[in-house]
Amino acid sequence: MNRSGQRDNRTMTTQAKPALLGVPFDAHSSYLRGAALAPPLIRTAMSCDSSNSWSENGVDLSTPDIFVDAGDLNLPLDRSAFHLIEKAVEDLLAKSLRPVSLGGDHSITYPIVRAFARCYSDLTIVHFDAHADLYDEFQGNRYSHACPFARIMEEGCAKRLIQLGIRTMSGPLRKQAEKFGVEVITMSQLPAHEKLTLEGPIYISFDMDVLDPAFAPGISHREPGGMSVREALNHLQAIKGDFAGADLVEYNPTQDISQLTWMVAGRVLKEILGKMIAS
Ligand code: MN
Ligand code: MN
Repeated sequence: MNRSGQRDNRTMTTQAKPALLGVPFDAHSSYLRGAALAPPLIRTAMSCDSSNSWSENGVDLSTPDIFVDAGDLNLPLDRSAFHLIEKAVEDLLAKSLRPVSLGGDHSITYPIVRAFARCYSDLTIVHFDAHADLYDEFQGNRYSHACPFARIMEEGCAKRLIQLGIRTMSGPLRKQAEKFGVEVITMSQLPAHEKLTLEGPIYISFDMDVLDPAFAPGISHREPGGMSVREALNHLQAIKGDFAGADLVEYNPTQDISQLTWMVAGRVLKEILGKMIAS
């Protein structure tokens, strides 16, 4: 901590271990439930014997003590869950760990990033998603999984928000993006590797529905025309800067086909951890 009570980002992000945290909460999902079942499944996918334990950038994730696992939270189904999520992430950050949260629906990113904002005054969020998730409210719920980035930006929890892979922009959402200064890179504007050289601490929020449903059908909102797994990994790997933390959300096992999405989620997590450990 420095004298103003804020951590020194740059020493912290390069030395701290990633810490997995399961956040089994899907009560703010507007259309289908099921994402709460995902956290333990994503863990087993990452260590599944059908593949090896190495990330593409050369990190062996079976190396003992290379990251820690903080287990799964036990959460109520109402908004009191948000306080518990925020507290759990805050506790991990206080131990100088880098939280990697496994969702859960995308509403969990708001309490997670609130905890990060108390550590980092200059956070840049790179948000992979088919959706902008910037609604002021959705179906009467300001904490819906369609709203987390409106809450994050109006509270000033991030310096920059860069959205990648968006393909459901409406007029009202475009206004919200303009209001908050969000840098939206739509699906049709990809590839955008050159826009991902970033300053300061980076937080990755990866919604599985950024992927085309042909690659990852196990999600709650299937939006055609998305990224291939290869395109998503290439963009993730193209990000230059220090990863302070991440989340992987919206995998819905009840919608999966032949465990396709299960394996993709495991791969994405492996590459996020590999990137964090190598940086
Ligand atoms: Mn989302
Ligand atoms: Mn989405």
